[in-house]
Amino acid sequence: MNILLLADIHANVAALEAVLRDAESRPFDAVWCLGDVVGYGPDPNESVERLRGLYPKMVAGNHDWAVLERLSVADFNPDAQSACIWTRHELDPPGAEYLQELPQVLSEGDFTLVHGSPRAPIWEYMLGPSTAQANFAHFDTRFCLVGHTHSAIIFRCCANPDSEGEQSEVIIPQVDAPIALGRERMIINPGSVGQPRDGDPRASYALIDLQEGILEYHRVPYPIELTQKKMEARGFPHGLIVRLSMGW
Ligand code: ZN
Repeated sequence: MNILLLADIHANVAALEAVLRDAESRPFDAVWCLGDVVGYGPDPNESVERLRGLYPKMVAGNHDWAVLERLSVADFNPDAQSACIWTRHELDPPGAEYLQELPQVLSEGDFTLVHGSPRAPIWEYMLGPSTAQANFAHFDTRFCLVGHTHSAIIFRCCANPDSEGEQSEVIIPQVDAPIALGRERMIINPGSVGQPRDGDPRASYALIDLQEGILEYHRVPYPIELTQKKMEARGFPHGLIVRLSMGW
């Protein structure tokens, strides 16, 4: 069974379509999504609709909650606030209902799915090894899948040679290079479909082969200018538009 792993689509349907086309050639049997389907981008309804049709296992992200007014926009920077308020007006009731039903945490076999972290699923950013290490105590499965930082990264829990305890090792995954899901516990971030922030503007996703125990990262180009034109037409902040070209 092959799992297509997506995170942080952020209402960028051109990026989502490019990922689905690329992944279909591999192919996949099921979709797991780590939240933030909406926010930042110009296509909230199209993105929710397209994703729903794939019947994904999915958790809620902070932008999903903010659009539903379960979080205050005061927690966001001005550009994110502006996109969130626009999305609140734009999102159709069926899309809002769908987002409303999303859980904060899901468990699928050896995997725990959250948006931010197992310790604080909606908000915590898993940016470095010390945060990761603290979070290994907060899930029971072998692997935890996270999004939220928009960067492809893996934290592997391993023995600390200087003490009796454990430490987290950072792995920056290479594109198209299979990674074995071994016995060591890992926190895995597939990167962002709709707003990558690791300097590479191409949409990011991962595939998990459950049978073989293999994880593989992929990047795929998409028509960024198409998304940007829609953002301009909808009067989005300039900063949100240009950052897509820079992968930041
Ligand atoms: Zn996000």
